Amino acid sequence: MLSSMTSFADITTIAVGGEIDRFVEPTTRVGVIEAVEEADAKGLPLFVIGGGSNVLVSDEPFHGVVVRDARRAITVPDEAAPVEGGDRTVHVNAEAGCNWDDFVDFCVGLGLEGVEGLSGIPGTVGASVVQNIGAYGQEVGTSVESVEVWDRKDKQTRNLTAAEMRFGYRMSALKASMYQAPAVPAGEFFPTPRYVVLSVTFALTHSDTGTVGYGQLAKALGVEVGDRMATRDIRNAVLKVRASKGMLEDATRYAAPAMQGTKKAELVDVALQAQQGQADPNRHSCGSFFMNPILTAQQAALLPPDAPRFDATLPNGKPGIKTSAAWLIDHAGFHKGFKTTQNAEAGLSTLHTLALTNRGQAGAHDIETLAKTVQDGVERAFGVRLVPEPVVVGFSLR
Ligand SMILES: Cc1cc2nc3c(=O)[nH]c(=O)nc-3n(C[C@H](O)[C@H](O)[C@H](O)COP(=O)(O)OP(=O)(O)OC[C@H]3O[C@@H](n4cnc5c(N)ncnc54)[C@H](O)[C@@H]3O)c2cc1C
Repeated sequence: MLSSMTSFADITTIAVGGEIDRFVEPTTRVGVIEAVEEADAKGLPLFVIGGGSNVLVSDEPFHGVVVRDARRAITVPDEAAPVEGGDRTVHVNAEAGCNWDDFVDFCVGLGLEGVEGLSGIPGTVGASVVQNIGAYGQEVGTSVESVEVWDRKDKQTRNLTAAEMRFGYRMSALKASMYQAPAVPAGEFFPTPRYVVLSVTFALTHSDTGTVGYGQLAKALGVEVGDRMATRDIRNAVLKVRASKGMLEDATRYAAPAMQGTKKAELVDVALQAQQGQADPNRHSCGSFFMNPILTAQQAALLPPDAPRFDATLPNGKPGIKTSAAWLIDHAGFHKGFKTTQNAEAGLSTLHTLALTNRGQAGAHDIETLAKTVQDGVERAFGVRLVPEPVVVGFSLR
């Protein structure tokens, strides 16, 4: 399907961004490859977009091609295979355009363990592996068997193994191909990675119980971290906790013409119910806007003693210390609901310090002003420059 006059504001969760010259929604595998290849061959700016839940695009018109994969099938190649030798692995393949939470619901419904903690994360299967989505003690990378991609450089399809995907904290080989340094785009493959995801094959476990891997979740379920519970109960608890923090996307967006049909209708209804009670000012965001910084021991030593510290790995593979971006923001004086001015159209979420929200009429420049104010304030207070998690297009948030 081709349509004109679509803007990034229509297809992103933060609901900002300029008009798009050409918006293409291929419905076949070859159609996706051709659309990407055509834009690349002509040297046009290319944006392969999924649910638009991790992008912040400038208000200027986008003079290029936006490709949104309209394939959403989920298949279970070895569903009928007998369980041999106690191996309970089940492979599930999902096309890149499949809505992520539709996929989670499908897996939980089939009695498979491995992605239930990632319930309610907006976006698509294709993008889930780009930044290795994670929440409540799970990361998608640990359940990925292989990723079928179109390699824009070598002009061929490939199957990348989980090892080749080089998953890290909100990182993968795909995301790495987009940046030369944190928040500094690599010229050739930005805002779309070198490898365009066509489908993902997951290796899940045949089990209708899962492990509760996170304190907040355990509390909501009235159990201990490490306990096993029905995956359906874990999923429902995750959705509840996310709603209470305003960390569900606004499901009313699926009624808009540009989003219709991108998520299963019955699950839109479930999502509408789950978000009941979620405060209105927090409807439009990219989720967590800044990544938790991973610091060297020397950098971490400069933080106040009560700043959170967790063992982590630096991008160079050496041991590092992860701190909490939300803690830094809050302790630098930017509390929930903060706005740069009383009438500003952008503000921190009233429920979650880490989410920057469009209060209704914000443009990209309003989000930019808020983001820079927070980055500068945190740097002044703690000497740490926060790096945005969303893909920022058309301006810079270094
Ligand atoms: C309310 C809210 C809560 C969130 N909570 C979490 C959370 O708990 N954990 C978490 O990790 N993230 C979270 N996010 C961020 C977001 O949901 C994820 O990053 C998600 O994977 C983005 O998917 P998308 O399809 O919307 O990607 P988009 O925003 O459309 O694109 C993001 C990037 O991926 C690329 N991309 C998209 N599709 C493909 C493809 N097929 N092949 C190659 N590249 C592609 C795009 O080019 C772009 O660079 C949250 C966001 C929101 C709005």
